[in-house]
Amino acid sequence: MTAISRLETATLSTAVESVAVEYYQIPLAEVLSDAKHGDHYHFELVVCRIRTADGFEGCGYTYTGGKGGRAIYSLINDELKPWLQGKDAARIEHLWEGMQYHLHYVGRGGLLSFAISAVDIALWDIKCKRLNLPLWKVAGGASNKTPCYAGGIDLNFSEAKLLDNIQGYLNNGFKAVKIKVGKEDYREDVARVKAVRELIGPDLEFMVDANYSLTVEKAIRFGRAIDQYNIGWFEEPTIPDDYQGYARIAEAINIPLAMGENLHTIYEFNYAAQQAKVGFLQPDASNIGGVTGWLKAAQLAYAYNLPVCSHGMQELHVSLMSSQANCGMMEVHSFPIDQYTKRPLVIDDNGLAVAPDTPGTGVEFDLQLLRPHQKML
Ligand SMILES: [Mg+2]
Repeated sequence: MTAISRLETATLSTAVESVAVEYYQIPLAEVLSDAKHGDHYHFELVVCRIRTADGFEGCGYTYTGGKGGRAIYSLINDELKPWLQGKDAARIEHLWEGMQYHLHYVGRGGLLSFAISAVDIALWDIKCKRLNLPLWKVAGGASNKTPCYAGGIDLNFSEAKLLDNIQGYLNNGFKAVKIKVGKEDYREDVARVKAVRELIGPDLEFMVDANYSLTVEKAIRFGRAIDQYNIGWFEEPTIPDDYQGYARIAEAINIPLAMGENLHTIYEFNYAAQQAKVGFLQPDASNIGGVTGWLKAAQLAYAYNLPVCSHGMQELHVSLMSSQANCGMMEVHSFPIDQYTKRPLVIDDNGLAVAPDTPGTGVEFDLQLLRPHQKML
């Protein structure tokens, strides 16, 4: 330990005293499939709890589609935990930058961004609790509500089951829905889009998501074929690395494009904003570096006159989305993390998601529900 960090530990009440990591595998109620990730049977949750010298405790977390969570656990437990020990938890930008470069050679996005996210969310939980304010106010305070949509992982559903599932979303108060596309034969996707539009009527928002499964040419063909169904956005038509390919698709079709869940550094978001001609950016606080990274992406979107949207973890994003002036639509993802918290997502009579008012992030896990799914590593 250097003389400076000894001094920090000795004098700061906001110093990190302990970091604890937990790993969970949570089964899904049924198998969910998309075009590129295949079948999902469970999702992983990696929880990071940080305690400061003056007794504040913050809870952060990240999730995966079922793979890689143990490596994220190790990055936090074996690499970030010793590095964080004794450092000032109140200097979040300092720690965020420090974590990026501490492991930059093996990181630069990827799994490291997931690990940093879990730590950063815990630090923001502490920051908000110390201020005695909810996250939606601390992160910006534009509003405490956000428009939202139900995001289905439903490519494996028959058309009848797909429509049944969508009807369930409508019954639960959703005013906007998204389905997966990327079938072998694109005409089947077109038929499913037509059937969903006919079910929900002309006025509700309706988006499609190909999970980067198409070539540029196939995406253009499909985008033109569904033009008549008033689609709000076409999400991840092709691989997230091909920013110029996105631009070619955007120029060839009328439907705006969306991307972000597979952009894991702020620099990748910058490339997307500059080059990809997208209509929406969709950062996910679980893989863009937590609240700090998400807010950087949201502000980048603002500068490019783009609405910011979100992917996954609705129980946290409800506060972040609400807090921003350029708030678009929040995804209510099919991984029901919020159902394992003490405050599952709240949607009002107008179909808006409502941010919690409790000091902190407002995400407190219900350990009675979570513990049966913990795996000791
Ligand atoms: Mg998606």
